[in-house]
Amino acid sequence: MDAGLKRELEEKVYAGERLTRADGEALYASDDLAWLGRLAHHRRTEKNGDRVMFNVNRHLNLTNVCTASCAYCSFQRKPGEKAAYTMRVEQAVEKALEMKDEQLTELHIVNGLHPTLPWKYYPRVLRALKEALPDVSLKCFTATEVQWFEKISGLPADEILDELIDAGLASLTGGGAEIFDWEIRQQIVDHACHWEDWSRIHRLAHQKGLRTPATMLYGHIEEPRHRVDHVMRLRELQDETGGFVVFIPLRYQHDFHDSADGIVRNRIQAKTTMASPAESLKTFAVSRLMLDNFDHVKCFWVMHGLSVAQLSLNFGVDDLDGSVVEYKITHDADSYGTPDTMHREDLLTLIQDAGFQPVERNTRYEVVREFDAPMSLADRRREPQQVWA
Ligand code: SF4
Repeated sequence: MDAGLKRELEEKVYAGERLTRADGEALYASDDLAWLGRLAHHRRTEKNGDRVMFNVNRHLNLTNVCTASCAYCSFQRKPGEKAAYTMRVEQAVEKALEMKDEQLTELHIVNGLHPTLPWKYYPRVLRALKEALPDVSLKCFTATEVQWFEKISGLPADEILDELIDAGLASLTGGGAEIFDWEIRQQIVDHACHWEDWSRIHRLAHQKGLRTPATMLYGHIEEPRHRVDHVMRLRELQDETGGFVVFIPLRYQHDFHDSADGIVRNRIQAKTTMASPAESLKTFAVSRLMLDNFDHVKCFWVMHGLSVAQLSLNFGVDDLDGSVVEYKITHDADSYGTPDTMHREDLLTLIQDAGFQPVERNTRYEVVREFDAPMSLADRRREPQQVWA
C-alpha cells in the first residue's frame, strides 16, 4: 500500500468516518499487521475502552443428523450412520442439567437439519430446558434451521419465531451466514438458506425484540473481497434494524478426519489451507474497522487457540466466547491443542494478563459483573506472566 493511501485511511479512521468497500479491500491488501492492529485497537477502544466481555455458556447439539452436506462440515451425519444421534427431550434436559455448574447464564444450541423430527420437537425442548434451568438464556438455532422449520412445519418464520420465543428463546445464533457471496456460497453450502433468507429471518427476529449475533466463515475458498462484501451486507442490515449485538469471524477448520469412522467429510480440503494466525488477526481488525455500527467483535477461542485469542484483543476484539465444555462442530474436526474446557477463572486470567478488564455479560450483552482491571504495568513486570499455549 502506498504511503498516501495509508495516510488517507488513517485519517478516516481517526476522524470516525465510515469506510467504503474499496477501503476494506485496501486494508486486506496491507501486510502491515501492526498498523492494522493499531487502527482497529483505536476503534475498539473508542467503543469499549479496555473492557473485554465474556459469558459463561455451554454448547448443546440436539442432533447431528442433517439432510444437507455442506462442503466444510464434519459435524453432520446421515440417518443410520455411525455416531449419528438425536436426543430425546428428556436427554437434552439431562445433558443441560449436567452442565449447570458455575453459574451458567447461556445455553447455545445448534443442530443438523433433521429429516424426520417434527417441528414441535424444538419448542418442546426449549420449554423443558426453560423449566429445568429458568435462569439460563436459550440462544438457539441458526437462520438456516429456522428456514428448515418453515419447510417441515408449513408455517412462516413469523409464527415459528413467536412460538420459539413463547417457549423461551432469548436469541438466535449467528450461524448459517458462512460467506454471503453467491459465487462462493454455492460451492460450500448445501442447503437453501442464502443471504435473502438469512437476512429476512434476522430482520424478523430483530423486529420481535430479539438481539442476535452475526458470523462469517473465513479462510476457505473465499477471497478478502468476499469478506468485505459480507460485512458490508451486515452493516447495511444493522443500519436498518440495529438488532445485531456482535460480529463473530469464524475460522474455517481444515483438517477434517473423523476419529470415529475415518471418513473425511470435508470436500474442499484439497483446495484449502486454513487461515494463518496473522490472517485471522487481520480479519478481526478489518471487520472491526468496517463494522462501525456493531458494538462488539468476538473471538471464539476454540477455533483459534488461546494465544491468538489473547492477541486478538489488540486487533479489535472485545468479546471472548465463554466457558465451553463441549463444542462438537469444531472438536469433531480438530482440537488444535485448545483445551476442552475453559472456566470463568481461566478467562479472567487470560483477559487480565493481556492488559484488559474482564466484564461478564449475559446473552443481550448486559453487564452481569465487572471484575478488577489488570494490575499496574509496574506490578506486572515484577511477576512472570503466564504464556498461554
Ligand atoms: S453446516 Fe449445518 S446445515 Fe450444513 S451440513 Fe453441517 S449441520 Fe448440516
